[in-house]
Amino acid sequence: MTLKRILVTGGAGFLGSHLCERLVEHGHDVICLDNFFTSQKSNVAHLLGRPNFELIRHDITLPVFLEVDEIYNLACPAAPGHYQFNPIKTMKTSVMGAINVLGMAKRCRAKVLQASTSEVYGDPEIHPQPESYRGAVNPIGLRACYDEGKRAAETLLMDYHRHNHVNIRIVRIFNTYGPRMHPFDGRVISNFIRQALAGEDITIFGDGTQTRSFCYRDDLVDGMIRMMDAPDTLIGPINLGNPGEFTIRQLAELVLELTGSSSKIIEQPLPADDPTQRQPDITLARKQLGWEPEVPLREGLSKTIDWFRQIDLSHYRPPTPNW
Ligand code: NAD
Ligand code: UDP
Repeated sequence: MTLKRILVTGGAGFLGSHLCERLVEHGHDVICLDNFFTSQKSNVAHLLGRPNFELIRHDITLPVFLEVDEIYNLACPAAPGHYQFNPIKTMKTSVMGAINVLGMAKRCRAKVLQASTSEVYGDPEIHPQPESYRGAVNPIGLRACYDEGKRAAETLLMDYHRHNHVNIRIVRIFNTYGPRMHPFDGRVISNFIRQALAGEDITIFGDGTQTRSFCYRDDLVDGMIRMMDAPDTLIGPINLGNPGEFTIRQLAELVLELTGSSSKIIEQPLPADDPTQRQPDITLARKQLGWEPEVPLREGLSKTIDWFRQIDLSHYRPPTPNW
C-alpha cells in the first residue's frame, strides 16, 4: 500500500477522530484540522504522540496552504442544535470550506472526499432514497443553512471536477452514531442515552412515528475509506448508511431496554421541517464499493451506552457554544 499525506478537516469531531485514528493505524501521514467548534482535543489526545499525526487549530472558512495527497472534508457542525446555533457560519463553513479545500486540491492535485448528507434529500417524497432523487429541501427553513450549504458544496465539487479536473468523491452520510458523539449535541441517540442513564424523561419530539436509519460509526468510516480508495471513475454521490429503519419511539424503547432505565417517555413539540422518514437505498454502495453495514442497531447502541457510562459529563460543555 502507498503511504499518503492525508488532511482530515473536522478531524477532531465524532466521525473525524475515528477516521484519523484509522488512517494513522494504516501508517499514513495524517493532518487533523479543526477549530473545535463542536469537539474537544480529548477526541484526538491519544494520537498526539504519534509521529504520523499532526493537529492544526484552524477555521476552514479561511484559506490554508498544505501539501497533501488526499483530503477528507468533514468540517461542519452536524447536529441540528449545533448547526442552527450560528446558521450563517454553518453556511460559510460548508461553502467557503469547500472552496478552500478545492483550491488546495487543485493546487496540489489532491483527491477530495466530501462528507455530504442525507439532508440533501430534505423531507423526502421517495422512500428509500436513491442517489438519483433530487430531494425536497425547504430553502428558507431552519435546517436550510445546513441542507443548502451541503448541496452547494456538492455543486462546487462537481464544478471543480468538470472545469478543473479535480479528483473528487461525494458520500451522502445518513444518521451515524457511536462513542465520542458529543453528549450534549441534541441528536436523538445522545439525548436518549444521556436521559436514560440519568433517569430523566426521554424526550420524543412529535408522536415518535417519524423514522431514521442509524449506522454505527465503524461501518461508516470503513465506507468513507473505501470510497476514497475506489477507482477515479467513481465520484458519487453515493449513499452511506444503514438501511435498517426505526421509528423514534422504537429507538426510545430500545434505549430503555438496553440501559435498564425506568425513565418515562414524554412527547415534546416536533421541530420545524423535521423529516418524516429517512432510509438509504445503498444499492450503489453495495455494487460499487462492496460495502454494507455490519453492526446492527442493538449491538452498536450497547457499545455507545457503555461509552456514555464511562465518560465524565462535566468535561463537555452543554450545549457546546462557541464562546
Ligand atoms: P462533529 O460536529 O462531531 O464534527 C464536525 C467537526 O468539524 C468538529 O470537530 C468541529 O469542531 C469541526 N468544525 C466545524 N466548523 C469548522 C470550521 N469552520 N473549521 C474547522 N473545523 C470546523 O460531527 P460529525 O457527526 O463527526 O460529522 C462530521 C461530518 O459528517 C460533517 O461534515 C457532517 O455534516 C457529516 N455528516 C455526519 C452525519 C452523522 O450522522 N454523524 C450525517 C451526515 C453527514
Ligand atoms: N428527536 C427526538 N428527541 C430528541 C432529539 C431528537 O425525538 O431528544 C427526533 C428528531 O425530531 C428527529 C429524530 O429524532 O425526528 C432525529 O433527530 P436528530 O437531531 O438526531 O437528527 P436529524 O436526523 O433530524 O438530523
